[in-house]
Amino acid sequence: MVSPKHVCVIGAGVSGLAAAKAFSTRGHRVTIIERSGDLGGVWEPARSYPEVQTQSPKELYRYTDRAMPEAYPEWPTGPQVHAYLTDYARSFGTDRMLRLNTAVAGMARRADGKPGWTLALTGKDGATTKEDFDFVAICTGQFNEPRELHCRGEGSFLDQGGQILHSSKYNDPQLAKGRRVVVLGGSKSATDIAVNAVKAGARDVTIVMREAVWRIPYFIGGLVNFKRILYVRAQEQMFPGWGASAMARLAHRLAAPMVWANWRGLESLLKAQLKLKACGMVPKERIEDGVNCSVPIATPGFYPMVADGRIKAVFGSFDHYEGDTIVMSGGERVPADVAVLAIGYKLGVPFLPAAYQEKLVDADGQYRLYRLIANPDLPELGFVGFNSSFCTVLCADLAANWLVRYADGQLARQPTAEQMRDNIEMMLHFKRVERPAAGVYGGLCVAPYHYRHFDELIADIGAKEHKRSGLAERFLPPDADAYARYLASAPDYRAVA
Ligand SMILES: Cc1cc2nc3c(=O)[nH]c(=O)nc-3n(C[C@H](O)[C@H](O)[C@H](O)COP(=O)(O)OP(=O)(O)OC[C@H]3O[C@@H](n4cnc5c(N)ncnc54)[C@H](O)[C@@H]3O)c2cc1C
Repeated sequence: MVSPKHVCVIGAGVSGLAAAKAFSTRGHRVTIIERSGDLGGVWEPARSYPEVQTQSPKELYRYTDRAMPEAYPEWPTGPQVHAYLTDYARSFGTDRMLRLNTAVAGMARRADGKPGWTLALTGKDGATTKEDFDFVAICTGQFNEPRELHCRGEGSFLDQGGQILHSSKYNDPQLAKGRRVVVLGGSKSATDIAVNAVKAGARDVTIVMREAVWRIPYFIGGLVNFKRILYVRAQEQMFPGWGASAMARLAHRLAAPMVWANWRGLESLLKAQLKLKACGMVPKERIEDGVNCSVPIATPGFYPMVADGRIKAVFGSFDHYEGDTIVMSGGERVPADVAVLAIGYKLGVPFLPAAYQEKLVDADGQYRLYRLIANPDLPELGFVGFNSSFCTVLCADLAANWLVRYADGQLARQPTAEQMRDNIEMMLHFKRVERPAAGVYGGLCVAPYHYRHFDELIADIGAKEHKRSGLAERFLPPDADAYARYLASAPDYRAVA
């Protein structure tokens, strides 16, 4: 029999809402602690830059039990995603579990000796209170603590009227109008902001990035939605995965020439479609070596603007500022009024005590998480949304459903601590040695192995149904409705007092 727990969900983004729903549905009492004034996480309007939209198509960026509205476009805008999340929270009553404007400042094992954690919670007024919970789900995402970059001469650049801001603060195109804008970074946010600055009437726009990277257009060849090529199991199987048997390795070796031709074909297509040569932006790396969560979608208009000079591209980084000029690592001098640092976010769980941080993260930054959700040495604790991907909502939903069963001892394949540790070591070896591209973001990225990851979670959960029929399963993107059916086919249970 499962007893009800008081569960703290930290964070009210996509992942926190998934966790709150999964735990409350099983009969647990849930409190969601959110430091911001609204739900939505990265989709909260105050944190979004203009014209932000998803990279994932809408049927891949949704919960299993709620489709996005029919009227939404294939790639919904930021406000649309926020509305979808708000509606989701209302429908399942998780909005009533929200405690906004409250930050988790620290956590420690419960002083009363019971299993669980005591959380230090800081309100808007700065006062800190302590509260006990039986279980904690950390859903704080990977995009919360902006990275900083400080270069020599920054003070004088600011003093003469220059402006330096992180990309998360670029939320008004007026910032760019009539000004010389320099964007540092090569992510989708960086190219989105560069394009937005051109459209907003910036005087000059320069983008500074370390190197050219492969970017995927929304429609490959101008015709085929990229989900039909890059999200399918048949494509995923071209990447050697973890724990491969001798037979699987042999099969990969035999198929290698075909796989090689597949990637060269895709590269040629992208070079021609995006006119990468004319833009001086042909990546050096083979496309298959770098596929992970950092592969950006090509912002519409970005390459044409580079080709016709509306966006100037410089390879390198900022070295220092001199008056109103930014001097690049390669020596180029770019006069600027605004520097937008699209340099990403710091990973981490800063409120976790140091002794537990050491159990969670290795010295090289790799996370020790079984299925990217739990660590056997961090009891009564789990992580939702740390299995990020190209379809993070689905990942968070499945992780939340896995975590509640894990917490309740109700997984069909409930792992022992030793099994978890062995699996963590095997996965770390895969990420460090066999496929270094899988080690980005602390190893917290399941792309391009979505299906493989989902297969493991669904099997652990004990779903009786777990695959679609032959061709659909191999050649169609993951189907959230199908995952809803798989979850429903697992043994049901409810915590009772
Ligand atoms: C511009 C942008 C576009 C994206 N597009 C896609 C896409 O198309 N497809 C895709 O798969 N992914 C995309 N992502 C990734 C995106 O982060 C995830 O899809 C998802 O929204 C992450 O949700 P989350 O709940 O895990 O984290 P977040 O949305 O970051 O939410 C975490 C929440 O935790 C709160 N929090 C943090 N620390 C504390 C604390 N100490 N106390 C209390 N609360 C705290 C934060 O305030 C925040 O509300 C995009 C990200 C960005 C930034």
